[in-house]
Amino acid sequence: MGSEIFFRMRGIDKDYYLAGESVHVLKKIDLDLEEGDYLSVLGPSGSGKSTLMNLIGCLDTPTAGEYILRGREVEDLDEEELAELRNREIGFIFQNSQLLPRLNARKNVELPLIYSGVRPRERKERAEAMLERVGLKDRMDHLPSQLSGGQQQRVAVARALICNPGILLADEPTGALDQKTGAQIMELFQELNEEKHTVIMITHDLNIAKHARRVVHIIDGVITEGGMHDA
Ligand code: ADP
Ligand code: MG
Repeated sequence: MGSEIFFRMRGIDKDYYLAGESVHVLKKIDLDLEEGDYLSVLGPSGSGKSTLMNLIGCLDTPTAGEYILRGREVEDLDEEELAELRNREIGFIFQNSQLLPRLNARKNVELPLIYSGVRPRERKERAEAMLERVGLKDRMDHLPSQLSGGQQQRVAVARALICNPGILLADEPTGALDQKTGAQIMELFQELNEEKHTVIMITHDLNIAKHARRVVHIIDGVITEGGMHDA
């Protein structure tokens, strides 16, 4: 048990092939995390952040290198095992909350539980508890269009957490929000981290990255460890 590796990347490369040309996007990435860490990956547009997020989230596989997540070597897994690992370990949050417009907040949060076969009554209870957790107790029946941007993002956080994943993986989570609403989302991340969730937050914004306990910089597909004062 104790010796299981939680998160380790070694020499990760990612190339894309486009019209016969290969594009070398990620270059020899080494990254280690311990359970309960709060990391931000800070870098400018085009530096490879979303590509890295897709790898971390097991949505894509590296061209070369080793990635171990909770003791599993990701490159050894087939599609089905990858999906299972992803569903169990990772809750995703994107810049635009990507809620289904015709479903109310509660139904949106319930969705991942439907896929994992949880019965309606338990789904409803868990979704309501999670929406209460993110401060939306009185907005459960609202459609996304009836919620502010910050509230929509809270629903997305509740949905990401509903299957109780260890890792919260967020790509520009405040990118579509004003400063005050963004700060509230950062407060929520802080609380979730204190509740032992591992948080990985990808951003181009130093002021957002600063909320993490550890910051790494990504520039042109290369990662360097950075304190927050040398950015
Ligand atoms: P960021 O999220 O930091 O803006 P991305 O990871 O989206 O950066 O993209 C990094 C680089 O990889 C960019 O130069 C982009 O054009 C290229 N890229 C991303 N996805 C693909 C793809 N599917 N095919 C080819 N090139 C891609
Ligand atoms: Mg991106």
